[in-house]
Amino acid sequence: MKAVAVFPGSREIKVIEQEDPRISQPDEVMLQTLDVGICGTDKEICTFEYGTPPPGDDYLVIGHESLAEVVAAGSAVERLQPGDLVVPSVRRPCFHSGCLACRSGHQDYCYTGDFRERGIKEAHGYLAEYVVDNERHMNLVPPDLREIAVLTEPLTIAEKALGQISWMMRHRPPWLDPQTPGEDRGRGLSALVLGVGPVGLLGAMAMVSAGFSTYVYSREVPPNPRIDLVAAIGATYVSTQAATFADLAERAGNIDLVYEAVGHSHFALEALRVLGTNGIFVLTGVPGLQAFIEADPARLMRDMVLKNQVLLGTVNAGPDDFASALRNLDLFRRRWPEAVQTLIAGRYPPERATELILGRPAGIKTVIAFDFRSGQQEAVT
Ligand SMILES: [Zn+2]
Ligand SMILES: [Zn+2]
Repeated sequence: MKAVAVFPGSREIKVIEQEDPRISQPDEVMLQTLDVGICGTDKEICTFEYGTPPPGDDYLVIGHESLAEVVAAGSAVERLQPGDLVVPSVRRPCFHSGCLACRSGHQDYCYTGDFRERGIKEAHGYLAEYVVDNERHMNLVPPDLREIAVLTEPLTIAEKALGQISWMMRHRPPWLDPQTPGEDRGRGLSALVLGVGPVGLLGAMAMVSAGFSTYVYSREVPPNPRIDLVAAIGATYVSTQAATFADLAERAGNIDLVYEAVGHSHFALEALRVLGTNGIFVLTGVPGLQAFIEADPARLMRDMVLKNQVLLGTVNAGPDDFASALRNLDLFRRRWPEAVQTLIAGRYPPERATELILGRPAGIKTVIAFDFRSGQQEAVT
């Protein structure tokens, strides 16, 4: 079978031929890959800044944003059967008996750092025709979501953040009633999303769906399809070219939530200065090496203390976040069918993965598709 792999030793990326994997444990499933989304993490791996092959291998099969179909199931598999669609989670637990996070199924909070991540760290990924994986890391996808479920994994970042924010909002102002339905959690509050990449745009959709009055702030200027998408979902786009953070704060009133999805330290620090009273600031971007900047930590510290602010970093996601991402994708699909479609820039064959990962993204989310037989959208050339 075909797979897309990086060889860090020889600094190569290529389509390789591998033997089909086999089910070796009763709780494993065999998956046929349908769609794999590519993102900045893949780019870092393909420029050899990041990514580690499994022990004993000189290559790493990449791909972590996957949608697949179950084609075979081991004898102890209970929840899944052939024909089911699944989105696998990415991180696998470490083996330390003392890691409370991994031992309780919350490896996204792993203490030791010895977790593995499929397609990223010490475990092969999903840019392969077939994959074998453990049932318990699979998230069942309703068939109606076939076309867009590849967006599940990037959406889980916002879902994990929103889950924690809701928990906090029940214990601090505005004292959210635990019975409040998801779509009312942000009612009367404002959210500021930084960035219009897939994580930012999916995050904006999640914030709007949770009832936040949502602003999206980024450097793009109209005309731009990403800005059109922001308008289509009922959020307000503000360009950095047209307004400063101070202008933005004046327009938005008390900014209750900032969702950072850029990975730029200077931009994030500037945004922290406009976070409102009792505000929560969520950081999701992982900056690479950046120039040192001047900052005023005393002011930041003073503001954070005097305004009861929360700074929350978040990475990866757990099973509940995958489940809520799938529920939200269904909601997005009904509410904004066209906007959701435009998130997917196109589907391309695996042979074009390298060029697409290393090139400038043509659209919002580029998808590598293995299954052209089922009448899905043909490769766009
Ligand atoms: Zn990704
Ligand atoms: Zn752990």
